[in-house]
Amino acid sequence: MPRVIPPTVEHDDAYFWDGVQRHELLLQRCATCHTLRHPPVPMCGRCHSLEWDTQAAAGRGTIHSWIVSKHPTEPDTEPRIVVLVQLEEGPRVVSNLLDVDPADVRNEMPVELCFAEIDGVLLPQFRPAVGS
Ligand code: ZN
Repeated sequence: MPRVIPPTVEHDDAYFWDGVQRHELLLQRCATCHTLRHPPVPMCGRCHSLEWDTQAAAGRGTIHSWIVSKHPTEPDTEPRIVVLVQLEEGPRVVSNLLDVDPADVRNEMPVELCFAEIDGVLLPQFRPAVGS
């Protein structure tokens, strides 16, 4: 059973998946008030503008919250660390944390963006920031 179901790309999030293919994490930016947002939505929650463009995230943030996910029907698979990353630009992103023992994960841990292909799907992921 694959661990990742390929995304269903829609009009409102095609930019996001196009960016992932270029190893960029793109955030929506309101064209009127310049507020950054994620996940993709058609309207700015601050000024209600429908006009937007994108900004590539620098890829740095900290762990706001996290869990270790172990599926009960797959006891032999490695647990995944699911994180809510507070990006330095402001929005938060749900992702996975790689290259760290679950026992070493802490809130506020500095993390950096990386990309990994899982079951044939390229995904934005995070790992502990170098030097942390
Ligand atoms: Zn706005």
